[in-house]
Amino acid sequence: KLFNEVQEAKGNIRVFCRCRPLNKVEMSAGCTTVVDFDAAKDGCLGILTTGSSAKKTFRFDRVYTPKDDQVDVFADASSMVISVLDGYNVCIFAYGQTGTGKTFTMEGIEQNRGVNYRTLEHLFRVSKERSETFSYDIAVSVLEVYNEQIRDLLATGPASKRLEIKQSSEGYHHVPGVVEAKVDNICDVWNVLQTGSNARAVGSNNVNEHSSRSHWYQAHAFFPISFQFLTFYFYINVSFSISILTNNHLFLIQHAMYNGSERLAKTDVQGERLKEAQNINRSLSALGDVISSLAAKSSHIPYRNSKLTHLLQDSLGGDSKTLMFVQISPSDQDVGETLSSLNFATRVR
Ligand code: ADP
Repeated sequence: KLFNEVQEAKGNIRVFCRCRPLNKVEMSAGCTTVVDFDAAKDGCLGILTTGSSAKKTFRFDRVYTPKDDQVDVFADASSMVISVLDGYNVCIFAYGQTGTGKTFTMEGIEQNRGVNYRTLEHLFRVSKERSETFSYDIAVSVLEVYNEQIRDLLATGPASKRLEIKQSSEGYHHVPGVVEAKVDNICDVWNVLQTGSNARAVGSNNVNEHSSRSHWYQAHAFFPISFQFLTFYFYINVSFSISILTNNHLFLIQHAMYNGSERLAKTDVQGERLKEAQNINRSLSALGDVISSLAAKSSHIPYRNSKLTHLLQDSLGGDSKTLMFVQISPSDQDVGETLSSLNFATRVR
């Protein structure tokens, strides 16, 4: 409802900003909080910069303080998720410096699940509620974009098969030959993800080792960039036996993200790892460029600059709905990265 209410006036990109709590290491190192949440209810947050400069204020569609939990966050995202059952393409992703809670927001932890799990749960529930009127066939594909190549992690044939993005005669983008596993409930999805996990590219390094701790979704633990999409075929049975077939996608994007060159320098990455890290940065900056061009209503949207954005083309811009979580750290030590994420996110809005 939230989404639909504001959508006409504001276009199809929503930006929610979430700040994580100060962690134990930061507290014992004497770090202080630079984020001011006095106007969080109005979607504003302030950053207290050092020196004499005044507080910088940023406005978003929603601001979540460290006290807001996964339920609060999903409550606002849920209406958007349901749009996919109403015929829209939807794309949800988290953006921000490493360690700011992207994984926490998207995956969550087993006792406190994030957007991905809640999304699937909600979709299955609503599609069952509507089953007297609509019939939804839900299928999951697990693709990995690794060093600018697309791999189908559910494919059982020769692993070397190269997949390409093609445009169908109806104009939508797809990957011909990709395996689509039919799913009826969340357990089915889990099983599919497990299968996918066995086929993943080995690409863990120091920076995203934390991902191995995530539980629901272990399938994606080490994916440099991975996402899954759900394909919905709607058979809308109107009287007079006319049936309409549409095909909508929901992308839940899981990134291992290196944000900023500093972070890359802090990691001892070399050779293949370095190439991988640079490719991830390239995909992410391409995603950023697409989002900001859409927000600026540019005549040219650079979808083709990376495999990731090319693949997401139908789910970014146009009629589709995009939700970006900008994740930030509250710590004074991270203020540079925080400002750069917030500045980027403000441009988008
Ligand atoms: P990223 O994916 O951006 O690198 P993570 O999601 O791994 O960051 O978060 C880093 C750490 O902070 C994790 O231990 C995570 O559980 C914790 N964390 C992040 N956001 C929150 C939050 N809102 N509340 C509590 N802990 C959080």
